[in-house]
Order: sequence, then structure tokens, then C-alpha cells
Amino acid sequence: MRKIFAAFALALLLAGASHAREVETVLLVSIDALHPDALNAKTVPTLHALMLPGRFTLAGQSVDPPKTLIAHTAMLTGLTPEQSGKKDNDWLPGQPRVAQTTLFDDARRQGFHTAFYYAKPKLGYLAGAAVDEQALVPDDGIDRARAFFRQGGKRFVFLHVSGLEYAGMNSGWLSPDYLDELTYIDMTLVPLFKDIGKRGAWRLIVTSDHAGHAREHGTRHPEDFKLPLILAGKPELPPLSSGVFRITGLRSLVRQMLAGE
Ligand SMILES: [Zn+2]
Repeated sequence: MRKIFAAFALALLLAGASHAREVETVLLVSIDALHPDALNAKTVPTLHALMLPGRFTLAGQSVDPPKTLIAHTAMLTGLTPEQSGKKDNDWLPGQPRVAQTTLFDDARRQGFHTAFYYAKPKLGYLAGAAVDEQALVPDDGIDRARAFFRQGGKRFVFLHVSGLEYAGMNSGWLSPDYLDELTYIDMTLVPLFKDIGKRGAWRLIVTSDHAGHAREHGTRHPEDFKLPLILAGKPELPPLSSGVFRITGLRSLVRQMLAGE
């Protein structure tokens, strides 16, 4: 009899352990045009608090050319522009969308509801069939993401935040105006991050599509290719593997999180 109880207790323990491991919340945030050198405790107190040893890099690399839609396509498909064929930086509503599978397909396969909130019309290119909810929301993407996460079940959101690109083009990358805009973005993310922290096991990925230099971006200047990657979660994540993080590596990284690995 004691043996049966012991087996029963063990089964309960294992069920509990596997339940605790299941990730129900995955939030991927791309802050458009974010230069890694802008990330410090003064400029971005919220993001900086997430930057734990081994769970972030400031030396990520975008694709060539490092432009918004080309880079986000690489981020979501895991493919270089040569592999995906998406070598131009344009898309208009009504034109064909991405032909390859994306992170949204990976999320669906793992039983997640998916949402995509983006701040520039051209990113609509990436809103394929595996996206349950999508919206072009230049200003209220964060509110939409919060509303989506308030519903139950496994949920994956890709949130694209713009603003920095315009500050960079008008005033220069890493200029006071650029840093002010980034501080504002950091502050607006606080309620969303608090919400996902209440959703049991969660994963948060913050990255960008490219940086820039002076008032330019999208060129072959080394600064333009730079991007950060910050990973956070509960239970705590394994450390990033060593080596240069490339934007094409994001899909497999997030796919592992969606699979609970
Ligand atoms: Zn961009």
C-alpha cells in the first residue's frame, strides 16, 4: 500500500512540475532602430533592470542591408534576404505577404493564440495566415497587447514599437532627442511588462531591427548593423550561448521558448 501511495505522490509531483514549466506567455518586442549603446540605467531603467548577466547581448547583428522590413522578415522567418527572397524594403496592402512560415506558425503549432501589433504599414507583409489578431497601431500597440494578454490561455505577441527611427533621422542616433524618445518608450512598456509578470511562466524578448549612425541608417556603416537582444522570464532562462547573435537566429531561440525548452 505504501508503495502505491509513493507512486501516486510521485505522479502528482511530476504532473505539478511539468505544469509549472509550461510557458503560457511569450512577448517579443522589437523597438525599431534601437542602438545598443543607448541602453543604460539612466536612459532605460525598465529594460536595464532586465539585463542580467548572460541573458543579453549588445553585439547583435542585423542583415545586409539593415533595413526595417528586410530585417524583421529575417527575424520572423530565420532566413537571410537571399534565402527568403525579401530583398526590398517595401510592401503595400493588397500585395502578396510572406511566403515562408514564421514564428507565428511555430507559436500556433505549440497551441498559442497569436497577435501581431505593428507601427509601420509595411510590416503588414509579415501578417500571414498564422496570425490570429493583427493591427496597424502606430500609437496604441502596447494597450492592444495588454488587452490580448488579459484573455486566458497560451498567448504569443509580437509587438513592433516605432519612434526612434524618426528621432534618429531628425536629430541623429544617440542624440539627446533620440535618448529622450527611448526613455519615453521604456516608460510606456512598464504596465505591459507588469501584466505578463502576473501570467505564470513567461518569456520576454526585446530586440531591434537595426541601429544607425549620424542621421542615417540602412547603409553598410558598421553602426547600422548593430542591435541588442535582452531575454527575461520566469522560471529563469538558460544563458545565451556564446558567439555573435545574428537576427536570423532569433526564430530558433524563440521557438525553443514556445516549446517550453
Ligand atoms: Zn527600422
